[in-house]
Parts: sequence; structure tokens; C-alpha cells
Amino acid sequence: MKSKIWLSSPHIGESELKYVNEAFVTNWIAPLGPHVNAFEHGLQVQTKSSHVAALSSGTSAIHLALILLGVKAGDIVFCQSFTFSASANPIAYQGAIPIFIDSESETWNMDPILLKFALDEAKQNGKLPKAIIPVHLYGMPAKMDEILSIANEYGVPVIEDAAEALGSSIENKPCGSYGEFGVLSFNGNKIITTSGGGALLSENAEMIEKARFLATQARDSAPHYQHSHIGYNYRMSNVLAGIGRGQLEVLSDRVASRRNNFERYKHYFSKYNIAGFNIHFQEEPEGYYSNRWLTCILIEPTKNKGLTREEIRLAMDNENIETRPLWKPMHQQPVFSTSKSYLNGVSDKLFENGLCLPSGSNLTEHEFERIFNCLDNIFSKHN
Ligand SMILES: *Cc1c(COP(=O)(O)O)cnc(C)c1O
Repeated sequence: MKSKIWLSSPHIGESELKYVNEAFVTNWIAPLGPHVNAFEHGLQVQTKSSHVAALSSGTSAIHLALILLGVKAGDIVFCQSFTFSASANPIAYQGAIPIFIDSESETWNMDPILLKFALDEAKQNGKLPKAIIPVHLYGMPAKMDEILSIANEYGVPVIEDAAEALGSSIENKPCGSYGEFGVLSFNGNKIITTSGGGALLSENAEMIEKARFLATQARDSAPHYQHSHIGYNYRMSNVLAGIGRGQLEVLSDRVASRRNNFERYKHYFSKYNIAGFNIHFQEEPEGYYSNRWLTCILIEPTKNKGLTREEIRLAMDNENIETRPLWKPMHQQPVFSTSKSYLNGVSDKLFENGLCLPSGSNLTEHEFERIFNCLDNIFSKHN
């Protein structure tokens, strides 16, 4: 059996172990400590955000953002439909009602036109959402200028799910710094990882202070344990923040490698597009900069001599090369089957015909050779 080529595997640099070791030597194993503070500061600089709380996951960051915006049972929250379930699950934790908004076909993220339509209808019904959650999928920034100006028009705050987009920006303004809140994830397959972790970003100091309070069991200031709020255990540990510090040092290298992967794939497929195929990519609009976390392709069989996404996925799987269909939209998920959604067919088509290709920053030349050989074989059957 050939060795496995992963979609996106952790890629550790040279400083992570040094920081983790430092945590052990100084006995800062207990949650919080100097690495957490330094990691938060590093993230602040990287994302040009004024305030950052390091947390146990991206999911917990979204949950706290909803709580801080006062989202309660029965409230409505708009969420991008084309995303990972973690964008939407915290809405349900609050007993609130998600309404899903489809994507536009350029960035594959929340469609501002549909958003405006949905907000208009919500206003007419007398029940505006308490928050809007757009997502920067696969590292590609959503159309934030349009989304924010529409959200502002209706006075609804935005929680920016930038879990996949650390290092991405629009006109040099980093993803995560646009909304009332920005959310990052450092899960194992993300562009940098702490093995598990996340962060909440905001311009509002008081909100981040409250997030830290809620994330550490909401202890009132008293010598004994005193509580006047329901708290959570959502803080990042000092050991994991040490890994994060090391990973932040190599973030720009990781982004460069992933962008290079994208260019390689694009160059590779161009010869087939010249030969009559029509492989489509997620393209950066003018001024947009994607970290290219994952390189994804769209293959519509009717435009590709009958070649399907599944044919590629299965042939790659046979060679022990991991690929994956794009995210299954939330409006198609059984768990959200009764939720309302505003659709235009874009995410349905992306899910049906889209594929994520191996995109790790540690892919080797030999692995690329195996991937391209496998693809050459598939294409040769469709000429
Ligand atoms: C990974 C991810 C999350 C959740 O982050 P965790 O750290 O795994 O909880 C949320 N939204 C999107 C779009 C993600 O890709």
C-alpha cells in the first residue's frame, strides 16, 4: 500500500517544541499563563485586531460571540449555508433559529444580494436577525464590504467566521477584523494549529474582557467561588498557546506554500482546459488575498466530457490520496431540515461537483507527482 497523501495535515515548525518545553520547565501547565498572553498579542498583530481572547476552539468562539450579542432562545441568526456545521451549531446551543443564506459563484461565500433580500423580508415580518455569520471558505474572503454595508443598513451585527482564513485579507485588511466579532480556529487541519484551539477577535475591549470572563466559568471577584452568570470552560491552555506561538512564526511560510499549491494545480489543469475541459477554481476578486487553505476545483460533467467529481475522488482514493467533496450546505443537512433558507442553487452545484485537493503546506515533490500521475490517468480516459 502506498503511503497516504492527506488533504491537509499539521505542519510543525522549529520553535513549537521550544515553547512547549518552556511551559514544562516553568511549570506553567495550568491553564493560562505567559504563552497565552504572547499568543494573543501575536494574533492581534497578525489580524490587526485590537483585542483577542485565545479559546479552546473556533466553535466556542462563535458560541461566545452569540452570547455577547445577546442571542437567546427564539432569536433568529442568519448564517452562510455553504459551510462546516460548526458555523451554525452554536446558534442551536442558544436555542436560537438559524436561517441559511446561499453563496455567490465568485468567492463561493455569502451572497450579498440574497442577504439583502432576506433582511428585507425579515424587517417586513418585524423580526430582524440578532446576528449574521458570513464565512471565508477555504481561505477565500467573502464580499465583506457589501455584506457589512447591508448589515449596517439594517443595524445587524456581523460575526465573521474566519476559521479557515487566518492570513487572508481584502486590500490588506485581514479577515477576522471586519465584523463586530472575528473567529479563528487552530484545529489540526487548519493553516496553523495548536492541535485544538480558537480565538475571538474584536475592536471592543469590554466584549473581549467579558468573553474571557465567560470562558473561565464566570467567576465574580470574591475570595470564594461566586457566580452570577452561567460560565463556560472555553479558555486555551498555556501549553497549547506555546504551540500557537511557534506556528504563528511560520504562518507566512505556510500561506506561501498553500498559495504555491494552488498555482501548481492551476497550471497543471490549464493544459486540460486548453484541450476542451472546463475545470473551474475559486478566483480572487481584485484586491482579495486568499491563504489558499485548500485548493478546490469545480467539475461540471456536462462541461467536462462527462468527467465527474466522484470519478476523480474514487480514483485518487484508490491510490491512497485523500480528496473530499466540498462542504455539504447546511440547508441540505438532516439536522437543519426544518430551517428556513434563501437559495439560488450556487452551493447545491458546488456540493454536487466540487472537490478539495490535497493542499498541505508539507506536500512533497514526490507526492505531487503521484497526484498528477493519477489525474493524468483519469483525464486520458475522457479524450
Ligand atoms: C474549523 C471550522 C470551525 C470550527 O473550528 P473548531 O476550532 O474546529 O471548533 C468553524 N467554522 C469553520 C468554517 C471551520 O472550518
